[in-house]
Amino acid sequence: MTAKYWIKLYHEILRDPKMCRLSDRLYRRAIELFLLAGETAQDGRLPSVDDMAWELRVDEFDLRNDLADLRDLEIVTGGERVGWFIPGFASSQKRYMTNAMALGMPYHEYLCTPHWQSLRDMVLARCKGHCEGCGSVPPSLHVHHLTYERLGEELLGDLTALCPSCHAEVHHA
Ligand SMILES: [Zn+2]
Ligand SMILES: [Zn+2]
Repeated sequence: MTAKYWIKLYHEILRDPKMCRLSDRLYRRAIELFLLAGETAQDGRLPSVDDMAWELRVDEFDLRNDLADLRDLEIVTGGERVGWFIPGFASSQKRYMTNAMALGMPYHEYLCTPHWQSLRDMVLARCKGHCEGCGSVPPSLHVHHLTYERLGEELLGDLTALCPSCHAEVHHA
């Protein structure tokens, strides 16, 4: 699951003592690095310095200085040899679908996300073609939400595969 379109920024960064200590220039740079991390991978890894410099249209030398300054404040970690990272990025982004739902992504759009598609595939793999209501092997199965409590970050137990008649039954019961 990757978030290619947006990243999650917490309101807390407004009051984060580390962020507050940054100059306008470094604040902007930090946000740019968060965005690059979101575009690159979900583990907080950043591209190489020359790739970043190209992407941000900045001088490599300036970028190296900014990275060193941001490392002193623990906003980035790593270095030239091991690569640069945004610490804690993966965990901050993990719940991004919930955020998408909180931001009001319409349900029908949610059902088109790769996130939902992969959950759906896992439920269909689990049931091996059988309706989890009646055990029949229908030509098609519907993946039904037992609860919407964790919409956007469902556990597999929140979902069940149902034949069309069991599905109709649960919705009309
Ligand atoms: Zn059934
Ligand atoms: Zn349903």
